[in-house]
Amino acid sequence: MSDEVEVPESHPRYESLLTRHRIERGVDRGITSRQGLIAQGRGEAYDYLLGERTIESADRAERAAAAHLLRADRAVISVNGNAAALVPGELVELAEATGAALEVNLFNRTEERMRAIAEFLREHGATEVLGLEADGRIPGLDHERGKVDADGIGAADVVLVPLEDGDRAKALGEMGKTELVVDLNPLSRSAQVATVPMIDNIVRAIPNVTDHARELRDDPDAQAEAIEAFDADEALSAAERAIREGE
Ligand code: ATP
Ligand code: MG
Repeated sequence: MSDEVEVPESHPRYESLLTRHRIERGVDRGITSRQGLIAQGRGEAYDYLLGERTIESADRAERAAAAHLLRADRAVISVNGNAAALVPGELVELAEATGAALEVNLFNRTEERMRAIAEFLREHGATEVLGLEADGRIPGLDHERGKVDADGIGAADVVLVPLEDGDRAKALGEMGKTELVVDLNPLSRSAQVATVPMIDNIVRAIPNVTDHARELRDDPDAQAEAIEAFDADEALSAAERAIREGE
């Protein structure tokens, strides 16, 4: 990225600093809300405890998520201000690798931010970005919080919601959707209600889901196996153990 802030690659916390700069730049560009800075700080704390790596159970979750996206009738990748700031190109690649649609979906929704994020995704190669229409609703949430596109998240059987708010994650689950969540906090309600919780940093998780999707694309048996082999409760426990015991 051309306007990336310079961080010396030799810095021991290179990835973490780069991530912070992306969020900062997202705020400057009107993509990420100031609340997003707080969410990032919370995520970083868990990443630190997890050893800033993709633990084995998260890799299994990411493989299962890839399989769900490939097998969906209608898969949608929900994009908020933090996700857009951190992994715009990677989200576009994942959508292409799996045939999923991209939908901007904000907790603090403003038309300006919706448009800025859609524009940013297009700059990174997205051809179609949903979410601006907002002609559908997630039942059980107040008007602003519940807005989605009827033919996007509204119609999806599989949704990938990175860094989603707990209430909305719960409401989406109650709509009967297969919910794939990326969240570094295994205790977060979003992670707890997910069909597939990926307890990992979004900057590592999304490219890894894409790699798995490319590998699984033409192999329905391996897709079924990846879904079968994954157990959400076990993955949450494994992440907690990794935090407590560094396993
Ligand atoms: P709830 O318990 O209802 O889910 P919350 O307090 O977790 O609420 P937020 O602060 O909005 O709600 O959520 C931000 C979540 O996103 C946190 O759980 C945090 O761990 C996670 N998060 C933040 N940055 C990242 C990141 N880069 N990758 C993965 N997860 C992240
Ligand atoms: Mg949460």
